[in-house]
Amino acid sequence: MSTDPLALDAVAIKMMGMEIGDVPILGAAIARGVGESRLENITIGGDYKSIPKFTDYKLPKRYKSSKKSNYKILIKVIDFFKTVPKVNQKKCRNCNVCVESCPVKAINPETKQIDYTVCIECMCCHELCVYNAVELKKVNFLAGIVGRLNFSKYR
Ligand code: SF4
Ligand code: SF4
Repeated sequence: MSTDPLALDAVAIKMMGMEIGDVPILGAAIARGVGESRLENITIGGDYKSIPKFTDYKLPKRYKSSKKSNYKILIKVIDFFKTVPKVNQKKCRNCNVCVESCPVKAINPETKQIDYTVCIECMCCHELCVYNAVELKKVNFLAGIVGRLNFSKYR
């Protein structure tokens, strides 16, 4: 357990015999500064002098080749297709479930406008609105077009 999920993953990755920079999603987390990843700055509770290692944990065979992957490109791809929640005023019934469940209080209780400088994109509001009034909108206009093109293939 940890109050810092990135620190928790940094330790877990080390226990498995990997480096945090080898895991693209954690590389993205480091780039976004969502927590602490430097092991020297992480305090581990319990009777450990150093980070314990799993002795019988086998890494996937593809791990070595995946080490060469460039997670900066992955971040760009993720950002390109990024979606944000937005309240559809026509569907909203003003129940305020989204407002009350938002962990960072990013939703204005009166207007239901979302402060994207505060929003952590947890999507709780989207998942909890039983009226489907919290819709996901593509940030990038072009990504929206690409998404629609791909989707239309499977109709
Ligand atoms: S949970 Fe849905 S219906 Fe309720 S206030 Fe939020 S957007 Fe509106
Ligand atoms: S995505 Fe999460 S943080 Fe953002 S407005 Fe919705 S509940 Fe709040």
